[in-house]
Amino acid sequence: MSEWDDYRLFWEEAVKQIQEELTEQEFSLWFNRMSYASSRQETIIVSVPSSFYRDQVKSRYLNLIENKLYELSGSRIAIEFQVQAVAVDGTTEKNQSRKSTPASPPKGTSGSQPRAGTQNPSAPVSPQEPAYRNRHSHHPSLKKEYTFDNFIIGENNAFAANAAMAIAKNPGTGYNPCLVYGGVGLGKTHLLQSIGNSVFQDFSDSKIIYVTMENFTNEFIQAIREKKQHMFKNKYRHADVLLIDDIHFLQKKPETQEELFHTFNALYDSNKQMVFTCDRPVSELKEITDRLRSRFERGLNVDLQPPSYETRYAILKKKIEAAGVQIPEESINLICENVTTNVRDLEAALTKLIAYAELVNKSITVDITKQQLKDFFSSPIQKNITIAVIQRNVAEYFGVSVQELKSKRKTKTIAFPRQVAMYIARDITEYSTTEVGLEFGGRDHTTVMHACDRIKERMKSDPYLVGQIDSLKKAIREASNRA
Ligand code: ADP
Ligand code: MG
Repeated sequence: MSEWDDYRLFWEEAVKQIQEELTEQEFSLWFNRMSYASSRQETIIVSVPSSFYRDQVKSRYLNLIENKLYELSGSRIAIEFQVQAVAVDGTTEKNQSRKSTPASPPKGTSGSQPRAGTQNPSAPVSPQEPAYRNRHSHHPSLKKEYTFDNFIIGENNAFAANAAMAIAKNPGTGYNPCLVYGGVGLGKTHLLQSIGNSVFQDFSDSKIIYVTMENFTNEFIQAIREKKQHMFKNKYRHADVLLIDDIHFLQKKPETQEELFHTFNALYDSNKQMVFTCDRPVSELKEITDRLRSRFERGLNVDLQPPSYETRYAILKKKIEAAGVQIPEESINLICENVTTNVRDLEAALTKLIAYAELVNKSITVDITKQQLKDFFSSPIQKNITIAVIQRNVAEYFGVSVQELKSKRKTKTIAFPRQVAMYIARDITEYSTTEVGLEFGGRDHTTVMHACDRIKERMKSDPYLVGQIDSLKKAIREASNRA
């Protein structure tokens, strides 16, 4: 089997997916008459019935096909068309993909160089369209705005950002694997994709795969269902740079963990770069096999902290400049002072303000800022939050059960989440310490007070905990709004 034989699978899958996107009529008009002919490195040769047809398909569908192939394989597979040979001996009927029955007998071959037997994968494949590579100005799975240039470095993220830049310069050589962890909205995805974008620009031959852990899992399940594990393995185990976002999604997914473990080993052994992100340190992941945990802990683990006032200010300034709007200095200061959680909230506040000013066609003043951003500036008590929702969210986050939170057990792994849950209950609901105590297995109100003090104290010196509690509060508010 040649190394490129899998390209046929990618082609078939791409065609199948395109069929779902086009009308039946359009699909059968253009795709039923194209067929997979052969492959060589990073190129699939597709057979078409005429040069007219070839030109039409090129102008209408080439981008679509190539993007699909890119999504599926993670590499820049180019398409070359060959106008089908006259089938004197029926050889063109061979080796056709499921979806693509070529027109028979082929017509309109004038202007091309017909060759018999071109459907044979082992046959030489010239003459062809000139190969084109690097047609994509950016990687289709990466957001092009997520670059190092657009990432403001402060003391909260400098270590992670510098590591990411070093990796992008020399993938696979130094910090491998690398794991970036931190709470929501602190720039994990931005940094991860910046690595991808940078490698994409500088190493045009590198096969870069960016995927969220959730999509990796879904793809894996689908591959099993459709008996295409081979294609799945081929895609991931041949990456040069594998970027997986939000690995905490792996918790409680033993089969995906197993698959990732093998992918990891294959890539690690061949010095391919891997970068992961996670919403917490690896040591705090629950229900994950020890062997996979130890793989993640290999290499470099770096954290992202919430931005300081100065970094928030620099980020806001940059985003304001990019948006081309005028915002009074006092308003910028107000936002920086009040939106302290993470960069995503900072962006959301700014977007809201700009949108308002544009809609009502007013310039932004300090009064407008205060009025429009009042939700960002205070965290009002939300009436619909129950202690049960808090307990469920906190328990799930820390991998303990709600019963354990309410129990008398005092082991650290349970006592700490319990204190966090009590603290959050006091912080975002109007329940008294007595009421909160009752919901936690009938504890005394002084126990609740003590728990809240402990957490407040720890938050002063542990910005990571601040981020954790922020994201928990957010999840709880959202869950309560949905209920
Ligand atoms: P996470 O993946 O950690 O939840 P994201 O990477 O999605 O966070 O970041 C949230 C938003 O904040 C994105 O729009 C991102 O561009 C922006 N952002 C985060 N950190 C920075 C930074 N240091 N400089 C500029 N923008 C940032
Ligand atoms: Mg993210």
